[in-house]
Amino acid sequence: MTLSASRCVAVTLAALLALVTACGGKDDQKPSNAAKTVVSLTFDDAWATQAVAGDLLRKHRLVGTFYIISDFVGRPKRLTKAQVGALAAAGNEIGGHTLTHPRLPTLSEAAQRREICDDRRALLAMGYKPRSFAYPYGLFDARTLAIVRGCGYNNARRSGGLAPPSNPCPTCARSENPGTTDPYRLRTLPAVRRSVTLETLKSYVRQAEQHGGGLVTYEFHNICDSCDEFSVRAGVLDQFLGWVAASGVSVRLFGDVVGGDLRPAPQPAQASK
Ligand SMILES: [Zn+2]
Repeated sequence: MTLSASRCVAVTLAALLALVTACGGKDDQKPSNAAKTVVSLTFDDAWATQAVAGDLLRKHRLVGTFYIISDFVGRPKRLTKAQVGALAAAGNEIGGHTLTHPRLPTLSEAAQRREICDDRRALLAMGYKPRSFAYPYGLFDARTLAIVRGCGYNNARRSGGLAPPSNPCPTCARSENPGTTDPYRLRTLPAVRRSVTLETLKSYVRQAEQHGGGLVTYEFHNICDSCDEFSVRAGVLDQFLGWVAASGVSVRLFGDVVGGDLRPAPQPAQASK
């Protein structure tokens, strides 16, 4: 891809929304915030069952962001190196999720830097383009924020922070606005658990539409029938992806929504300053 083409792809959400607004006509018979709603499908921890997600995304001509724990690749129950490569080759984004998935705020600054920066260097060395990072367990502190930025990530994703429809809280956020939120503190829907239904997954998009659109980020882990608390059944995911693909909602890679070109990793000596 040429540099100019790359820049075209990496439009910001604000630019996308402006484009949508500019193109939208008042005579549209179906005035809806569907066009203003952007869905990002994210998959954490490099579980082997996520190969199924790759198949389903391809089936529905969608792409997602996979946050890889680089030291875990190839271990039992985790994706193999070849499987991660196949996901990337299919157009999915490979993001960073540390070397070993620690609770970052419990670590020294040097240990946090090793977990975050060495993981990013490993992903770069494997040929990936890690622009996006996800905090293990959604945990970070002020040191983490500075290190993630310093190691060359353009954005970082938390775990949760957006309210589900079942929470009537009048002031809670229902979607994220990357144009106004710190790009290193971006929120997701509650992590998907095995009890989730197709209707619940759909309801997150619908509530965002009812609240003016915005970025709706799903956080998936295992794809299986009750193999783990944090899982979704393959059949439910299949139906949901089919529904999203037909809904008119824009489905985009997390790194593309936030924007920014791939940045080099700092040398270890620079990163430790
Ligand atoms: Zn994780």
